[in-house]
Amino acid sequence: MNQERLFRIARRTGIHKAFRPFYSGMGSILMFHRIAKRDNSLRIEKNRRNEVSPEFLELLINYLLTNAYEIVSLDEVYEILVSRGKKKKFIAFTFDDGYGDVYSLAYPIFKKYGVPFTVYVSTKYPDKKAVLWWYLLEDLVLKNDAVGFMHDKKSHHFDSATAEQKEAAFHSIRTMIIKQGTDALERLLKDIFEPYGMNVFEYSHKLALDWNQLTIMSEDPLVTIGAHTVNHYTLSKLDIEQVEYEINKSREVIESRIGKKVEHFSYPFGSRGEAGKREFDLVKNAGFKTATTTRIGNIFPEHRNHLECLPRIPISGNREDMFSLESFLSGYIPALSHKFRKVVTG
Ligand SMILES: [Zn+2]
Repeated sequence: MNQERLFRIARRTGIHKAFRPFYSGMGSILMFHRIAKRDNSLRIEKNRRNEVSPEFLELLINYLLTNAYEIVSLDEVYEILVSRGKKKKFIAFTFDDGYGDVYSLAYPIFKKYGVPFTVYVSTKYPDKKAVLWWYLLEDLVLKNDAVGFMHDKKSHHFDSATAEQKEAAFHSIRTMIIKQGTDALERLLKDIFEPYGMNVFEYSHKLALDWNQLTIMSEDPLVTIGAHTVNHYTLSKLDIEQVEYEINKSREVIESRIGKKVEHFSYPFGSRGEAGKREFDLVKNAGFKTATTTRIGNIFPEHRNHLECLPRIPISGNREDMFSLESFLSGYIPALSHKFRKVVTG
């Protein structure tokens, strides 16, 4: 059943509350990407969803603190899991990728409330060499009534005149992109964006954190810096040496920049097709304390045996309300997304 329907049912019946005793677990790790100010321009939904407003972040922190949640760091999540202790439910805040607005908009709010959070960084972001193709692709379909390119001697064409067509074109091309391994990916991105004269590093410069901002945050005891690979590739599409490089190199580079140990990791595009058993084992062997996926779920005592693949609760810019939050934290959406299993590792 799709999430939209689940939300509608819960809104009508309040059924999500019945899940709380069984599916809310010991706490939850929240997943964010960006904190960004609202505007009303036409956007691709998948990108807009990754942008939560600063106002909602502040409301959310207030709500959690007044509702007896304890906001903890990932080191504390690790401690709670290995020692099985803690009466209050915990919440950990995590941000993926390394966007600049985590520094400019989110960090001041966390400081104001004295609340910890984690930023998982793909090192190509602060190196300003990341190809944030999802923003390039958004621009491409928003600006053009049709999008076309040649790839591997095949021509591809997508209508993108109406809002619906733009969404559909974005999703079809996105699916092509995330299926690629490294070399093929670079060729495909070139084939798509070069004919339109787009600078593939444009959004690295516009949107990524720089090393100076990261270093400043890393010196604050409220902030944990985690690793999120070098290149933000789909790990399941790489060979094993490449995956090891992505995991170890990103940690090494961040550690040498911030002068601190990096002990937490998150998988790029961490849903089922993009990160699995092979990746989990490699991260476990690399000696991280915890690693998080994009699988949806709360944290249960059993996760002490699965510290390398902890699920998270996505906080979306298109669901900035406490009812949606409770639909996740109660365990209602996670339980129905995973056929009532609590601990999903596969
Ligand atoms: Zn990511």
